Amino acid sequence: MNYRHAYHAGNFADVVKHAVLTLILGHLRRKDAPFAVFDVHAGVGRYDLEGEAAGKTLEYVEGVRRFLAEPPPPELSDYVAALRAVNPGSDWRFYPGSPRVARHLLRPQDRLVLVELHPDDVRALRREFAGDAQVAIHQRDAYEALKGLLPPPERRGLVLIDPPFEVKDEFTRAAHGLRQALKRWPTGVYAVWYPIKDRPPVAAFHEVLKGLEAKEVLVAELLVFADDVPARLNGCGLAILNPPWQLDEALRQILPELHRRLRRRGGAVRVEWLVQPA
Ligand code: SAM
Repeated sequence: MNYRHAYHAGNFADVVKHAVLTLILGHLRRKDAPFAVFDVHAGVGRYDLEGEAAGKTLEYVEGVRRFLAEPPPPELSDYVAALRAVNPGSDWRFYPGSPRVARHLLRPQDRLVLVELHPDDVRALRREFAGDAQVAIHQRDAYEALKGLLPPPERRGLVLIDPPFEVKDEFTRAAHGLRQALKRWPTGVYAVWYPIKDRPPVAAFHEVLKGLEAKEVLVAELLVFADDVPARLNGCGLAILNPPWQLDEALRQILPELHRRLRRRGGAVRVEWLVQPA
């Protein structure tokens, strides 16, 4: 496990992922009934953009800093509020990871379950959420944890799958994990983040997603470069299984604006049903 998210925190891919996360949670918040969020590749929850790791790559400069260079779009007010919550002063030194973004959107009746394998990150998470009764932290493999934790008693909620993609078969593992999880909790919302370098592995992943036992599968992608240089992270996508109602329309509205702010050379936006609503 070499991957350390601190080098990438706040990059364009984090902006896309966390913006979409806030849109999904915004939909779940529309009903009073409690929901549970399972963030099974949690990272550390909060990143110091003035720290050594972020300073080495400066990826956040092309990500969250570009996003914030213009007045934020009203549709992403929850995302901006989550950014502000870890930066109560006037600057933007800290970046909230997915656990902090999700925690910001919990109501008193909701729960957040964090799963992380790296011992240093688990320690950081325990510090970050010490004394928070709405947050549970497990040091376990993501997919093993889902076997034990699903379905939640709330019967409503989201599973976020955000692996590091440092091993070649990560797409296969994610698809297998999803298949198992859907057997236990067919009605949960699932969001899987994936990198886009070149098309063939992504196209193969999409084919597998079409065969899963999910009623609806939506994909949202944002490329900051054309997807013709396989060695580069050209873009990223989220596959959303059982997406909340009208999430597709919300994404069609907001992704072009994010693309305008984050693009480097070309690229594009795509929002598409892999499995259409009946
Ligand atoms: N979700 C985080 C966010 O948006 O702020 C970033 C997560 S980062 C892309 C991936 C994380 O997964 C790393 O912190 C890594 O240590 C962790 N990880 C890697 N393999 C794992 C596994 N098998 N089970 C659980 N966590 C794992």
